[in-house]
Amino acid sequence: MLRLNGVETRYGKIVALRKISLEVKEGEIVALLGMNGAGKSTTLKTISGLIRPKTGTIEFMGKRIDHVSPEEIVRQGLIHVPEGRKIFPGLTVRENLVLGATGRKIPMSQVNKDMEEVLEVFPDLIPLMDRLGWSLSGGQQQMCAIGRGLMAKPKLLMLDEPSLGLAPVIVQNMFQTIKKINRNGTTVLLVEQNARQSLAISHRGYVLEAGKVAAHDTALKLLDGIQNAYLGAT
Ligand code: ATP
Repeated sequence: MLRLNGVETRYGKIVALRKISLEVKEGEIVALLGMNGAGKSTTLKTISGLIRPKTGTIEFMGKRIDHVSPEEIVRQGLIHVPEGRKIFPGLTVRENLVLGATGRKIPMSQVNKDMEEVLEVFPDLIPLMDRLGWSLSGGQQQMCAIGRGLMAKPKLLMLDEPSLGLAPVIVQNMFQTIKKINRNGTTVLLVEQNARQSLAISHRGYVLEAGKVAAHDTALKLLDGIQNAYLGAT
C-alpha cells in the first residue's frame, strides 16, 4: 500500500532521513520506533507531502506521491494526525470532526452518518460534542484529533505519538482503540517512543536511528529483542 525507497530528506544542510526504505501492507499496523530526533516525525511529514524528499521515491496504492500536493495526498486517502493533537481550540468537538470530512465533498447527511461511526470508536466524545477544543483534557484532544482523521475515511492513517503526554491508563485505552480502528479496516502507520505497547498491537516494526532504518522485523521478534536487551542489561 505504501512504499518508501531510498528516501533522503534534509532541513537545509541537516540530513534528517538517510535513504530510508520501508513498506506498509494493506491491513497492517506498522510501528515506527526510535529515540527523540531519530527522524520519525520527518518520515511522516515527508510521506504526507509537507516536506519534499531530496532523493528517493514514495508510492501509495501503486502511484508515486513524492511530488504530489499534501491536499491531493489527503484526497487519495492518506491521512496524517500530527504530534501534539493539533485540533482547532476555538471550535467545538463536533466542528473539529466535521472539518475532517471536508475535501470528500459529501452531503451533510453522510457527514452525520460517518460521525456516528467515529463516535462508536470514541464513545467518550459523545458528551463532549459541544465543548470547545481548548477546554478538553490531553486524552480527549487526542481522541478528537484521531476522530477528525477518521472522518476523512483514510485508507492509511498515520499517527504521530498518540500516547505522548497521556496518563498510563489512558495510554492503554488509546492503543486498544488503534487496534480497533485497524480491525475496522484501516491500515495504520504508528510513530511511537513507547516501543513495548506499540509493538504489542502492531504486525511489524521499523526502528530508526539517526535517520536510518537500524532494524525491521515482525513485532514479535522486535519485542523479543527488547526483552533480551533488557535482561542482558540487568
Ligand atoms: P521527536 O520524537 O523528538 O519528534 P523524531 O524521531 O520525530 O523525534 P524528527 O522530529 O523527525 O525526529 O527530527 C529528525 C532530525 O531533524 C533531528 O535531528 C531534528 O533536530 C531535525 N529537525 C526536525 N525538524 C527540523 C526543522 N524544522 N529544521 C531543522 N531541523 C529539524
